[in-house]
Amino acid sequence: MRITTDRERVAVLTIKSEIVRSAGEFLRSEGFTEILPVLLSPITDPLRHETYDGQVDFYGVAYQLMKSMIFHKQIALRTLPRIFCFAPNVRMEPAERASAGRYLAEFVQLDLEMRDACRDDVIALGEGLVCAVFESVLACCSVELATLGRTLPVPARPFVRHTFADAASEFGEPFDDALSATLDGPSWVIDFPRRIREFYDREDPERPDVLLDMDLMYPEGFGEALSGGEREFELDRIHSRLDRDGIPRAKFARYLEEVGRGVPRSAGFGIGIERLTRFICGLDRIEDARLFPKVPGDLRSL
Ligand code: AMP
Ligand code: MG
Repeated sequence: MRITTDRERVAVLTIKSEIVRSAGEFLRSEGFTEILPVLLSPITDPLRHETYDGQVDFYGVAYQLMKSMIFHKQIALRTLPRIFCFAPNVRMEPAERASAGRYLAEFVQLDLEMRDACRDDVIALGEGLVCAVFESVLACCSVELATLGRTLPVPARPFVRHTFADAASEFGEPFDDALSATLDGPSWVIDFPRRIREFYDREDPERPDVLLDMDLMYPEGFGEALSGGEREFELDRIHSRLDRDGIPRAKFARYLEEVGRGVPRSAGFGIGIERLTRFICGLDRIEDARLFPKVPGDLRSL
């Protein structure tokens, strides 16, 4: 649905507030500490897909608006074993993406990372998080869900897993929309190929070119919910990933210095809060999932 009345807008924002509250409560109960976001840095997520960088002149040096907390999460794990952060991301996606209804140029990611964890650990955590949030919204926001005409089933666990290779052979690439439309509940896609993902997702030592990463897909055609995986943490492996992908090491010099000092083995993910709100509320368009939305290319954004 599209939001047209104040009553509907209040319902969405009340549900979103409960999503944020219950997600934080669940993660604290799992031993996570909330850290506050970084806004500007010389190092941020390179991303594989096209976005325009938000640059700021930081005393004469180009710093970027953060696209995700990936590198800062790895470094923060030296201090704390499990962290999460509601982090604003600025990703100036190409204007053509606006029509898909699931991209904003500024959004909030619930970004989390666990020291000494493997992919199965973060998959189990992600299933627990999604179910805890759904249960809290059902328990606390039944009036708001009724206002939006939304029925929200709590998914059965464990969620179904698809390999990237199987999904690609069934639906072709990219398969997000087609796969999402056929799902009965949130489902995982695992084992992405190196060629389409970032250098920090860990390559399986047993299966070169296959990454120990995953996406969660929403059903009903809502598409990608989260991305994550195990991380590369050893300097020589990161050097070789950069070199194989043709990324100049100098571009990530400040990150490589930190890795040289040591970052822990870890796994984690980032889940988009507006996309989660969109799915839970059954909204046609992501801009209805927040106040002051920045739609790619829309210069009326506040
Ligand atoms: P990524 O690591 O790039 O997959 O981003 C993590 C999560 O953030 C995604 O799975 C989405 O839920 C969300 N996300 C990424 N880009 C956008 C965007 N442009 N607008 C809204 N949410 C996004
Ligand atoms: Mg992703």
